[in-house]
Amino acid sequence: MTQRSLSELRRQIDGLNRDLLQLLQRRAEIVLEIAAVKRSENLDSYEPSREEEMLEALLAAPPGPFGPEAIKEIFRAIFRSSLDLQNRERDRTMLARRRDLLPAGGIRVRQVAIGAGRPVLFAGPCSVETPEQMDTIAAALAELPGPTIFRAGAYKPRTNPYSFQGLREDGLRLLQSTARRHGLPTVTEVLDTATLDVVAEHADMLQVGARNMYNTELLKALGKVAKPVLLKRGFMATLDEFLLSAEYILSHGNEAVVLCERGIRTFEPWTRNTLDLAAVALLKKETALPVIVDLSHALGRRDIMLPCARAALAVGADGLMLEVHHRPEQALSDGFQQLNLNEFAALVTALGWAGTAAPQQPRGKP
Ligand code: PEP
Ligand code: MN
Repeated sequence: MTQRSLSELRRQIDGLNRDLLQLLQRRAEIVLEIAAVKRSENLDSYEPSREEEMLEALLAAPPGPFGPEAIKEIFRAIFRSSLDLQNRERDRTMLARRRDLLPAGGIRVRQVAIGAGRPVLFAGPCSVETPEQMDTIAAALAELPGPTIFRAGAYKPRTNPYSFQGLREDGLRLLQSTARRHGLPTVTEVLDTATLDVVAEHADMLQVGARNMYNTELLKALGKVAKPVLLKRGFMATLDEFLLSAEYILSHGNEAVVLCERGIRTFEPWTRNTLDLAAVALLKKETALPVIVDLSHALGRRDIMLPCARAALAVGADGLMLEVHHRPEQALSDGFQQLNLNEFAALVTALGWAGTAAPQQPRGKP
């Protein structure tokens, strides 16, 4: 072969490469159009039977130098890249990532606005126990000048079935009546769809616990409820999984979702879980949803709450959750991690929430 014919053949290959690329790009554009139709009709982007159908048609075409195995390999690579493209597009257009989703005034829980610039304190005992306990703690919270939400569990997701399981409906009533007397909004955990109505009837905000982040039936049902939701990150959940759980609630009609980083399970035993502050910074960057940090369940200890609270606010948290009890040593759950009222007062003073230190500067929206 002469030098001249080789360069001519190479020119032909270059031209075919350009044509192939143009065809592939045209194909990708159609793939995106199909993805948009599937999204609007709630269809799955992956259809294995359609891929097999396309391969069969290709293999039935007149034979050429490429045999069936080579044809399958080339087209499977094209199908894989097309699916990646559809999935990236689906992730990009997720409700959880939409900047315009959060109302300018943040998410409202009665008079408190979350994600409106001023950090919100979610505080209260692990569990609702007695009228005296609830009243004493609520009175301490009601004195705080900053936005505060009263937390306490009535339905408790305990690891051990012989541990205190919560006061259930009586607990809800006690939480709500105490909170109303002290002018505080409430958040409490909803464990399942069976008790969703009664929890929604009493509480101002509904909490999905770490153990339930993957409970898709509960998430879908919460999408239909006209109350804001505090969604906690599962122990082992990636941020993609966390956002997809939020997407379940948002896509079923409830746009008032607040995310809560509460520590993930790692090999480290010095804290109850590992507080993932990078997750807070990333979620603030990737979503418009407010993000708060539960220091009590993340750390499982009281001695490092202040520096971790400061760190959480520094990475952009829209609020902090703290467990506080008037007698932690007698608490029916999580006594070891709950702050007593003196410790709580010292912490909120150091953070500027008690009004005696420099007040928190409101932060602008991202
Ligand atoms: C709670 O906040 O009461 C609780 C049980 O937390 P988590 O779901 O994060 O373990
Ligand atoms: Mn607890």
